[in-house]
Amino acid sequence: MERFQHYIDGGFHDGDAGFDSLDPATGSPWARMPMASAADVDRAVRAAHLAFHAPAWAGLTATARGRLLYRLADLVQASAPRLAALETRDTGKIIRETSAQIAYVADYYRYYAGLADKIEGAHLPIDKPDMEVWLRREPVGVVAAIVPWNSQLFLTAVKLGPALAAGCTVVLKASEDGPAPLLDFARLVHEAGFPPGVVNILTGGPEAGQALTSHPMVAHIAFTGGPETARHILRASAENLASTSLELGGKSPFIVFDDADLDSAANAQISGIFAATGQSCVAGSRLLVQASVKDAFLARLKTKADAIAIGVPDRMETEVGPLCTSRQRERIAALIARSVTAGAKVVTGGAVPQGAGFFFPPTILDCTDAPDAPALQEEFFGPVLAVQSFETEDQALALANGTAFGLASGVFTNSLTRAHRMIRGLRAGIVWVNTYRAVSPIAPFGGHGLSGHGREGGMAAALDYTTVKTVWLRTSDAPIPDPFVMR
Ligand code: NAD
Repeated sequence: MERFQHYIDGGFHDGDAGFDSLDPATGSPWARMPMASAADVDRAVRAAHLAFHAPAWAGLTATARGRLLYRLADLVQASAPRLAALETRDTGKIIRETSAQIAYVADYYRYYAGLADKIEGAHLPIDKPDMEVWLRREPVGVVAAIVPWNSQLFLTAVKLGPALAAGCTVVLKASEDGPAPLLDFARLVHEAGFPPGVVNILTGGPEAGQALTSHPMVAHIAFTGGPETARHILRASAENLASTSLELGGKSPFIVFDDADLDSAANAQISGIFAATGQSCVAGSRLLVQASVKDAFLARLKTKADAIAIGVPDRMETEVGPLCTSRQRERIAALIARSVTAGAKVVTGGAVPQGAGFFFPPTILDCTDAPDAPALQEEFFGPVLAVQSFETEDQALALANGTAFGLASGVFTNSLTRAHRMIRGLRAGIVWVNTYRAVSPIAPFGGHGLSGHGREGGMAAALDYTTVKTVWLRTSDAPIPDPFVMR
């Protein structure tokens, strides 16, 4: 079996404890992972705290930090095939997707490398003649970054890139499900030449997560994962009062009007719910289709869903691979069963297949006559599409906004004016019009409500890793006047 290690204070270490990671395509162990204890976490946070103040990092110019990030970007690009193979092996995400996604991750590091020396302070036109007042943007301190197993290199880049650009140091906790690519990525951080302790990478479960997010030396927590874990994290942050950004789940509406290009919309819907085996936070998991085209659109979707190549994730032909864990598959099957009891009809898929591995087929549930089906409110995080139909634009909006989530949304229409009305009315952090699942380092990403708060990607995300210092400098040589009057 392959062995992976933690990266703490510039060195590679076995944890005191360890666990076997399962290959989701076979269900068998393939690698031995370290499991971080609270003591490992403490060591990593202390190393990050020391590194934050040490001249080797704190003394670097922003431009020099940017150069290190450019180097990391080049290393990620050169290592993309290896990282993609590891992610595919450890999480079951298909190689077609991991290869393309990791190659693009290099551009995220480049974006934040370029931004490092563009995080500017400000000079204030202060209302006192003998004062100069300006604002310095300073790094906030040690960042706890916690990511789930899906899209983990991407979700790391949108935290590590801005945090390092701003001058923070980071303790990154990979998920205990499928941590291989991030533990391997630590070698690239090392090779790029970041001083010891600036980036620390470990893996572990709730114990490590709790120790990290409540640690007194942590100043900011950047979390991606589920809403229930986010609640634990907010409770833990009551200890250190760290600031937080939370990127959580979704139940994103995919809205198809009768004037849309149905072929194009069907392809986007297939990508929106079955790509990454549906294990995507922005999955377009609720299809809202205008009643007049419902049958035609569903027929197209069913034909396409039934033709999807399901198979082992390391083959380029495979379009849907296994789910990451058996736990996840059990959850999905149970949520389908509850929805069927509530009146949902299975259009295709829906049953756990025989054989090894954590496979689950592309599934469509028609919930038109089952408005209370849990499939319409709860995140599957799997390849399951719940369908509802509507008559009018107002109904479409009411259904779209009718969950506690607010992450992504898609609108398919050829009417420009309707598109604008929908953009205005949708309560979501992202609206895609006549497209779906597009991302870029230049574009902010995040949601409202149960989907969390804060934005990753884009320029403003770098400011989340800074704090403002207001500097007052008196320019008068005259002695300070009356000490009992506030200036
Ligand atoms: P999860 O919440 O179970 O785990 C996420 C991370 O939190 C893991 O690293 C886990 O070890 C850690 N964790 C668990 N307990 C913890 C605790 N008590 N304290 C601190 N950390 C703890 O999520 P998951 O099942 O791995 O991932 C799927 C979820 O992530 C879905 O809800 C999905 O929508 C969401 N997600 C959101 C985005 C986004 O950008 N909005 C992106 C990807 C995934």
